[in-house]
Amino acid sequence: MKALQMKSKSRSNSQNGSRDASVTEASLSELLREVLVRVGEDPGRDGLLRTPERMEKALRFLTRGHAEDPKEILRGAMFDVDYDEMVIVRDIEMFSLCEHHLLPFIGKVHVAYIPKGKVIGLSKIPRLVDVFARRLQVQERLTTQIAETIQDAIKPLGVGVVIEARHLCMMMRGVEKQHSSAVTSSMLGAFRNEQETREEFLSLIRTRTSNGF
Ligand code: ZN
Repeated sequence: MKALQMKSKSRSNSQNGSRDASVTEASLSELLREVLVRVGEDPGRDGLLRTPERMEKALRFLTRGHAEDPKEILRGAMFDVDYDEMVIVRDIEMFSLCEHHLLPFIGKVHVAYIPKGKVIGLSKIPRLVDVFARRLQVQERLTTQIAETIQDAIKPLGVGVVIEARHLCMMMRGVEKQHSSAVTSSMLGAFRNEQETREEFLSLIRTRTSNGF
């Protein structure tokens, strides 16, 4: 396979969002093969022969949330209830890609809300986290998207979302200490207006019980 023609003008094209024809005609795995060449590798050597296809598959999996509709996931999973105490789903594993470097950021999401007549099936909350995490993201936006989607879907008295994550783009490039993590939060309704509610949530996600749960 011949190397792709990537003319120098494609650099200025990419700045304003338009795309060079020689690039748009190439398949994703061809482009990824070219990436291997550009970083100084030989894509013809044994270990790399199938790497472009594997990279493509991984990339499509890790960004599939772009094609998923969070409303669709919640449809049919909202139930009428009288319960009006805080619902918390904590320690949801989260794997996302930072949109600045396409490197992973990994962590935990804690979600809480106080129902006002409706709840969301518990298993759908991690699904909702996944839909937004499997996109190119920044942690701040991921946090607010989860909170606002729940707010819109069931109009609860309030929603709180806290994400603690480590960013490989900082860790691998030595920008930050290896064990530092970024914490973001989005507090809506009662979680924003009532300090007591917010503190109840924050203390519940800090608590670790002896059996590991
Ligand atoms: Zn980054």
